[in-house]
Amino acid sequence: MVIDGEATEDQIKYLNEHIDECAPCYNHYKIDKSVKEVIKHKLGNKTVPPALLDNIKSKLGQQVK
Ligand SMILES: [Zn+2]
Repeated sequence: MVIDGEATEDQIKYLNEHIDECAPCYNHYKIDKSVKEVIKHKLGNKTVPPALLDNIKSKLGQQVK
């Protein structure tokens, strides 16, 4: 997976350029990163910041529309 840092430099370059031009991919990428932040907090037995959860919810809401 590109997002997990296992992509080649060419793949990352292509992805970054594509995300700049493609709103659905951009939103998807940002949601994926936010979800991983939440998982990180949970694994560390930390409270997930409410702002982060709101952020994800609003992004998911945008996708549903
Ligand atoms: Zn795309």
